[in-house]
Amino acid sequence: MRVPFVDLNAQYKSIKTDIDRAIEAVIGETAFIGGKYVKAFESDFASLYGVKNVISCANGTDSLYILMKVLGIGEGDEVITAANSWISSSETISQTGATPVFADVDEVYYSMNERLLEGLMTSKTRAVIAVHLQGQMCQIEAIREICDRKGVYLIEDCAQSHFSTFNGVRAGLRGIAGSFSFYPGKNLGAYGDAGCIITNDDQLADKCRMYANHGALKKHHHIIEGINSRMDGIQAAILSAKLPYILQWTNSRIAKAALYKKHLAGISGIVMPEVREGTEHSWHLFVIRTERRDALMAHLKKFDIETAIHYPTALPNLPAYAYLEKSRDDFPVASLLEGQILSLPIFPEITEEQIIFVAEKIRDFFKD
Ligand SMILES: *Cc1c(COP(=O)(O)O)cnc(C)c1O
Repeated sequence: MRVPFVDLNAQYKSIKTDIDRAIEAVIGETAFIGGKYVKAFESDFASLYGVKNVISCANGTDSLYILMKVLGIGEGDEVITAANSWISSSETISQTGATPVFADVDEVYYSMNERLLEGLMTSKTRAVIAVHLQGQMCQIEAIREICDRKGVYLIEDCAQSHFSTFNGVRAGLRGIAGSFSFYPGKNLGAYGDAGCIITNDDQLADKCRMYANHGALKKHHHIIEGINSRMDGIQAAILSAKLPYILQWTNSRIAKAALYKKHLAGISGIVMPEVREGTEHSWHLFVIRTERRDALMAHLKKFDIETAIHYPTALPNLPAYAYLEKSRDDFPVASLLEGQILSLPIFPEITEEQIIFVAEKIRDFFKD
């Protein structure tokens, strides 16, 4: 039995008519960039998610960059983000001219450790990019309280946490804005690159929209210089076609995670993912921890089970950040996790048989 890490084709097959029709409509109307399908997705996503403004853009990296640019963040400023994330969470800080400051993650939930946040703030700190990793929200209430008290912007990187909640509030709605990626493998994925910003602040929304479209809200009326970061009509139409299914797919991920927990129960040698009290995890990833990670990964590969590591090197330990001159000891948890975390295959269409197969092979491995 082959168990792929994700199976985007299985999902396509399940809604093939909707997708094919959506793509044909865009091509038939040559609504390739911007236009009615993009507007329709923005309003569909806004009403389903429960937010006033959705500003579509080219990907979930630009969305972070655009936000920081319109908030006036640049040279001389510092922005704090999590030591374990995808590089978009930090490279966009540097791209504005500001300096990324990494906060170590906590040992239980693997997200930004809110207890370290205040100690990392200086007079130069302008924003915090809180990352909701793996589908689970970080301690956003505590982070919000600190940001408010310190007068620092809170931006939420929700690329891995569509529809996750913390005390009933969805990811992206506590900060000044939320940033989403619709990269194909994300919980809501396009068939290419796409992303968006969500915010209840109308003025900020207009600024983002302008910045993402060459600094113009009306054609040829460039108020400022911006960038070209637009969503394709085809991606928007595909995302709109997927929206009616997203809550059901999220529930399916929750059910599949429960099956993993059931079938992996009692295996000594692995640490299971913990769900933070008050949160609804959307299970973008199912991450276990073991000291024998590399050997386990190789063992599963022999049985055609694909696994992955998110992420094999903590951000501050990457060559890209050597210039910050930090040591591994500055981020003890993130540095420990990089050698121990393993993401198991999880997607809405994975079957219980596949999960049982994965769990059996893991159980066998720890018997030796
Ligand atoms: C995927 C991801 C991004 C970037 O999204 P792209 O659409 O690939 O640019 C940003 N942050 C996190 C945490 C991600 O997982």
